[in-house]
Amino acid sequence: MDIIFGPVQSRRFGESLGVDLSPKLKQCNYDCLYCELEGKKAQESMREVLSVDEILEAIKQGLEKFPNVESLTITANGEPTLYPHLYELMLRLEDIKGDKQTLLLTNGALLWDLCVARACLLFDKVKFSLDAVSERVFKKIDRAYKSVDLAQILKGIYQFSADFKGELYAEILFVKGVNDNPQEIQEMARFLAPMPLKRLDISTIDRPPAYKVESLSLEELERIGQVFLHYKIPTFVPKRKQGSMQENLQLSQDEILKTLALRPMSESDINMLWSMESKKILESLIEIGKVKQKSINGVNFYALR
Ligand code: SF4
Repeated sequence: MDIIFGPVQSRRFGESLGVDLSPKLKQCNYDCLYCELEGKKAQESMREVLSVDEILEAIKQGLEKFPNVESLTITANGEPTLYPHLYELMLRLEDIKGDKQTLLLTNGALLWDLCVARACLLFDKVKFSLDAVSERVFKKIDRAYKSVDLAQILKGIYQFSADFKGELYAEILFVKGVNDNPQEIQEMARFLAPMPLKRLDISTIDRPPAYKVESLSLEELERIGQVFLHYKIPTFVPKRKQGSMQENLQLSQDEILKTLALRPMSESDINMLWSMESKKILESLIEIGKVKQKSINGVNFYALR
């Protein structure tokens, strides 16, 4: 079972080993329009739950294999805070993680829950996502489980931001015509402005999502970024890759499989290094289920299934 993923090199968080708390299937309390996993009805809780022992054993082996990673990123096929033993996992992780930093990627929907918040407070870094602050837009974009209450989520994020002693990051993903209206953007900026954010990442769809939605242009993202900067929020807008850095590596199917067997590769590395033909072969390997995609620290990468 692929509990451990990577390591992945991220400009933002360094080299990190991914820990997937739901490696077999998507389990999420949202069903976001832009999700890169398959669309699936939101659920209130995790139905398939790994044991803490199983996860710790996988982390131990991962750290033995990759002793130089800087951090462990706790994530999931879905939402990691649905994992019911997160607090126990974090307490016991202390015994094996050595000097590795811990990072949590969450949709933030459960930070109001004291049991969840208690576990999240044990991380060194937490990155939460926020897609809307108005009920209408939230319903449209995040399509949360029916008992999920936006006012409670916002209160939870706010309270967590005040209590958390580690580094706090936020991310907003913009979808054209859904959460990019000026009023929603202003309200999101007002909501985030008082928080001690280390950084806000704003982004848009850059892979085929679960549902048919459109991305924004880089210029539009840059304009939106200005609104958040106006509120003195440290905001990062991703830049496109340089075409001049293309290396155009021509790989056969066998070579691709061997390369990915040795080490998963990030999408940006593949874009930079591989030829169009090699990328087409990669797509066909994904289609027939030999290669899978995964997102860690906001970085997409590819590995053997
Ligand atoms: S984008 Fe994240 S929060 Fe949204 S449905 Fe997918 S896994 Fe869940």
